Amino acid sequence: MRIEGIDIYWVKIPLAINFRTSYGDQHYTDTLLVRMEGEGHYAWGESCPVYFPAYSAEHTIATFHTVREHMAPRIIGQDIASAQALLDRLSFIKGNQFARAALDIAWWVLEAKRRGVPLHVALGGTGDRVPVGADFGVQDSLDILLQMIQGAIDQGFPRIKLKFRPGWDLNMVEAVRSAFPNFTFHVDCNAAYTLDDADLFRKLDRYHLAMVEQPLADDGMSLINHADLQKMIETRVCLDESMQSLSAVQAAIRLGSCKVVNIKMARVGGLTASRDIQALCAKHGIPCWIGGMLESAIGGAICAELATLPNFTYPGDIFPSSYFYKNDIGKPEIVLSGPGEVSTSQVPGIPQEPDPDLLKQWTVEHVSFKA
Ligand SMILES: [Mg+2]
Repeated sequence: MRIEGIDIYWVKIPLAINFRTSYGDQHYTDTLLVRMEGEGHYAWGESCPVYFPAYSAEHTIATFHTVREHMAPRIIGQDIASAQALLDRLSFIKGNQFARAALDIAWWVLEAKRRGVPLHVALGGTGDRVPVGADFGVQDSLDILLQMIQGAIDQGFPRIKLKFRPGWDLNMVEAVRSAFPNFTFHVDCNAAYTLDDADLFRKLDRYHLAMVEQPLADDGMSLINHADLQKMIETRVCLDESMQSLSAVQAAIRLGSCKVVNIKMARVGGLTASRDIQALCAKHGIPCWIGGMLESAIGGAICAELATLPNFTYPGDIFPSSYFYKNDIGKPEIVLSGPGEVSTSQVPGIPQEPDPDLLKQWTVEHVSFKA
């Protein structure tokens, strides 16, 4: 398929809440929306790094720059027969997975539209719905958190993820476990701890969490340190920030660094890498689940399509639009189709596109390539 057009929009979307994690407070999502055109079809994809380079070295402006200067010019006007052919043209670029993903993801949605099938069918998945979890950042008080948890359980979410950082850690889990002795919870540390905190994680074992996500830094020692920690605790370690590619997952499996893998489609370089990682993990008995980057409904819908692949066995971080946004730029917005689940696409590609007025209003920068 010849790629006739690529448009990249850096969009700043106001959040309905202050999203607080160990990285800081977030009031906006800065995301990249990508429109790709070919063979008379067009499709929208999304890659959503964080605005500040704390979650990963990549961040919005750098990602926008990399796609504009180094990637899109090598794809526009090219006949791209497969996702691999697209990635091969970008293979000289080191890292920059969010940028790579921006084009890989848009290509997959475009390919699904060209074939006239929902994205999940193009990806090899099945199912008309996927289970999704609830996710709570650090709150102003434990009482507020407990009320929010009760609300999520009442809505039928099958599991809840809790952000966990120094000062909002064991006491928080103790309070949650006392109030909800049997519900499925896991904690996400966003790399906030070191091996000196091993005792803290040993103490967590008694609360029977589904996993502890990214307890330690995603630095050069990450996989070794997580392997050491996993040997000391019973709770399964899940890696998020450290899993930036298929090869990183291969190394983690070899070293025993984790027992669960969080796949964020953009962090690992796109849908092609996400498929490969979930298949590799399946071979090794390692469950996967979909992580989120506060994407709009466009990225959220694509995540739901990806979640239909067989090894995504733990409910994903795919949220109804109203969870983070008063007005989601992606329409139709994501809604729960039943308790703790969202529907997958019934149309070629995905049904979501940006609202044209909001796109105009919230675009910070836009670049357009035409063949
Ligand atoms: Mg995480």
